[in-house]
Amino acid sequence: MNLAQNLEHVKERIALACERVNRDPDEVTLVAVSKTKPLSMIEELIDVGQMDYGENYVQEITEKYKKVKCPVRWHMIGHLQTNKVKMILDKTVLIHSVDSVHLASRIEKEAAKKNIIVPILIQVNIAQEDTKFGSSTEELLDMIEEISRYPHIRVRGLMTSAPYVENPEENRCYFRKLHKLFIDIRAKNLHNISMDILSMGMTNDYEVAIEEGATMIRVGTGIFGQRDYSR
Ligand SMILES: *Cc1c(COP(=O)(O)O)cnc(C)c1O
Repeated sequence: MNLAQNLEHVKERIALACERVNRDPDEVTLVAVSKTKPLSMIEELIDVGQMDYGENYVQEITEKYKKVKCPVRWHMIGHLQTNKVKMILDKTVLIHSVDSVHLASRIEKEAAKKNIIVPILIQVNIAQEDTKFGSSTEELLDMIEEISRYPHIRVRGLMTSAPYVENPEENRCYFRKLHKLFIDIRAKNLHNISMDILSMGMTNDYEVAIEEGATMIRVGTGIFGQRDYSR
């Protein structure tokens, strides 16, 4: 499999989706989700200019961070346990998966110690699936207002993982709903809250997500192929 070709193919589909809704493809950041994949594959993509990578596991980020030959932008997209916050704070450009004030308060504490400001997204469980992490839409605004008081955290936007569906059109309503929340919250001009990143869309549904306003998509399988969790 040729990774560079896969990447090119995804980028073409991004461009086409943007064209359909009159958006500039430069508005959409492609995060290549490299979880479970070896560093050699990442380096192949670095060579063709892919610089944003998403990982789900703290251990994997810290290992790859140490070994990668030139600095890339690591995104934490998986569920984050409070006791692991300090291991990744200064290694990631964005934490997509903040789903509670409790987790944010830990990030605030560790960021203050390091004297850094940490950009985060709030993960929203937009389809209200029992199996998924994320804030409910009802508690979202209270949570954001609470987190806006933390001086070492900058809320940059929202993130969601839509349900796995055969037909990506089934997720359009969820993407639309999250985009609306994003716009409504942005209009409130809350202190410390910038709402300029909307992270939604994966291999199966990123084109629909782009049509509904995603500014960041997270694509794993579509670039790296199927993941093997057996090892
Ligand atoms: C694994 C993962 C992805 C990538 O999923 P693909 O279907 O392989 O593109 C995106 N976002 C999150 C949060 C993930 O855990």
